[in-house]
Amino acid sequence: MTQHNARIRTIRNIGIIAHIDAGKTTLTERMLYITGRTHRVGTVDEGTTITDWMAQERERGITITAAAVTTGWTDAMTGRSAQINLIDTPGHIDFTAEVQRSLRVLDGGVVVFDGVAGVEPQSETVWRQADRYHVPRICFINKMDRTGANVTRTLAMMRERLSSLPLPMQLPIFEADAFTGVVDLLQMKALLFSGETGAPPTEAEIPGNVAGVAEARRELVERIAETDDDLTLRYLRDEVITEAELAAALRRAVIDNALVPVLMGSALTDKGVQPLLDAIVRYLPSPLEVRSVEGHHPETGEPQQRPPDPDAPFCGLVFKVASDPFVGHLGYVRVYSGKLEKGTQVYNATRQSTQRVGRLLRMYAAKREDIDRCAAGDIVGMIGLKDSVTGDTLCATDHPVLLESIEFPQPVTKVAIRPRDPMDQERLIGALRKLATEDPTFTVVFDQETEETVISGMGELHLEILVDRVQREFEVPCVVAPPEAAYHETVTGRTRAQGRYIHQSGGSGHYAVVRLALVPGERGSGFVFENRASASDVPQQFERAIERGIRDALEEGPLAAYPVVDVHVVVIGGRHHEIDSHNRDFEIAASRAFKQAYRRARPILLEPVMTVTTRVPEAYVGPVVSDIPARGGQVGRMQLMEEEAGYIIEATVPLSRMFGYVTTLRSLTSGRGRYTMEYARYAPVPEDRAAEIIAARRERAQRVR
Ligand code: GDP
Repeated sequence: MTQHNARIRTIRNIGIIAHIDAGKTTLTERMLYITGRTHRVGTVDEGTTITDWMAQERERGITITAAAVTTGWTDAMTGRSAQINLIDTPGHIDFTAEVQRSLRVLDGGVVVFDGVAGVEPQSETVWRQADRYHVPRICFINKMDRTGANVTRTLAMMRERLSSLPLPMQLPIFEADAFTGVVDLLQMKALLFSGETGAPPTEAEIPGNVAGVAEARRELVERIAETDDDLTLRYLRDEVITEAELAAALRRAVIDNALVPVLMGSALTDKGVQPLLDAIVRYLPSPLEVRSVEGHHPETGEPQQRPPDPDAPFCGLVFKVASDPFVGHLGYVRVYSGKLEKGTQVYNATRQSTQRVGRLLRMYAAKREDIDRCAAGDIVGMIGLKDSVTGDTLCATDHPVLLESIEFPQPVTKVAIRPRDPMDQERLIGALRKLATEDPTFTVVFDQETEETVISGMGELHLEILVDRVQREFEVPCVVAPPEAAYHETVTGRTRAQGRYIHQSGGSGHYAVVRLALVPGERGSGFVFENRASASDVPQQFERAIERGIRDALEEGPLAAYPVVDVHVVVIGGRHHEIDSHNRDFEIAASRAFKQAYRRARPILLEPVMTVTTRVPEAYVGPVVSDIPARGGQVGRMQLMEEEAGYIIEATVPLSRMFGYVTTLRSLTSGRGRYTMEYARYAPVPEDRAAEIIAARRERAQRVR
């Protein structure tokens, strides 16, 4: 084993994954404090934490940016030390893009649950994503100090909702109803916590009043043994299996996603954090233990693999770009293979540009440290990646590779925004552009029809936060319109049409005729272009111009100037002139033909439809269910809730009818209902509503004229 490998083996790239309010921020703070990198514990309630460094995050108390923080820990049982890179992951559904991008670069996750609330809907969403990326996990049941915290129920919910295989590693110890410690079922001892900030646990005999210790221990040994042939045999023969053997087998099972160890504690009152750190080091994989990253050669398309080996060619993924107040453009990079020295060049295979990495940074909670080199497995900050954005692949110039880019969901919510002072328009655009490079699910466009700057994102909250940042960080006061769904247009009928652009009166002339057929495409197929015209009618050289003419026309559809999707356009004929035909002439003729065909092909509006999952106590089910059709939605599956008397109601509802639903649900359920929402598909807008939307849009467009 090389010296490099020895170092990589000690790295744990992990993320703390949690539903909002489960205690992720508090737990992160305690972990950083205990591991000794910070000297003061910030608390969320006071708004002084280290990972939540942006002002509005503090105010809202939610974590948005995926910052990476490095720290270190030694597992008390095995004596193994590790460098832990904590990659922050947000819990709010609006930020699934952030979660997904972090899942791509983590090797393991700690999933935090609120011991009272149990498994919340958003945890289910994130859990499924973690499954998709094969992220090995440990669970932490937090808030054990709260009355109503219930380990058994939370475990049941995990089995049911997450179809996971939770393996309890601990049992809670209560003294006069207060949570004071845990039974460590692997080492069969009690760990008692004084509650003093950062104080290590005291080991003790297992108190006699903890029920079910023997059964829980048996289950632990049996389920770990089951994952290993040799241990299964020895277990059946009643032979002794040592703690170290169990730990090693469990580690393999966790990495294979066969078992999920469950620990518990209370981050707020400093209980259970050290054993969790031990478990991270003991059970979660090092970068050497995860599969090789896959990609392809940017030119030949040939599949490529890069092993987590410092001697392989360099490659890494930019998983976050931040405009840092101190260093400017800061790229967070996960290095998958090879090594890189500061001051050297890397190839950005996504942008096809060479960039010089001026500085390499390791980010600690309270400081950043300049480092000279980084290697496979590292998470580092890079300065100098001028035009890199999130999702870009960096690689060695002579060994190009393009890693699978990060998939992002469609931004389906839009708002029009303008500066309070018209003189600030340029600064506003500058600020929005900057934010858009940081966040791939956020886009900025200028709507020609209404002459408005329109921003699109994942949801109301997402856009609210971005607007907040524009006002605060960039100091541009602005005015925003109410949110709107991002409508699209498409056609429902097949048509043909001809477009001409002919001017031949003296001087150099113009000549182009394009005939095309328009066919509705499958939902989600976008734009498909095909040329079946004979080269004698339409010479090959004009094909691109024709396609361009149509693409331009697609940006603002003839029906209501919304983007056109799901159309198949076939060029079936045309005419040209030896001397007078130019590219531009074909562009114009194609655009005219397309618009004519489009108007006659029964165009319709499409809107984003969301899957809405609502959880409501029994007493409020009636009003919540009957409100759904009133919003143009459809009630789907209804399922009894495990944790309390009530139902989980699934429905599909047009996004346009969901704005402000938080408030409605609150009033329908006296604040006891909760919901999550995910983009499902685009679907036709019913005619009456389409007419209203089109009329309102025309009116807005008239106003600017
Ligand atoms: P996040 O949204 O997951 O980052 O959660 P926070 O760390 O911001 O915590 C949400 C709220 O729960 C805050 O008011 C915390 O003080 C509180 N909290 C966090 N951990 C615990 C805990 O272990 N016990 C109790 N009682 N409250 C906690």
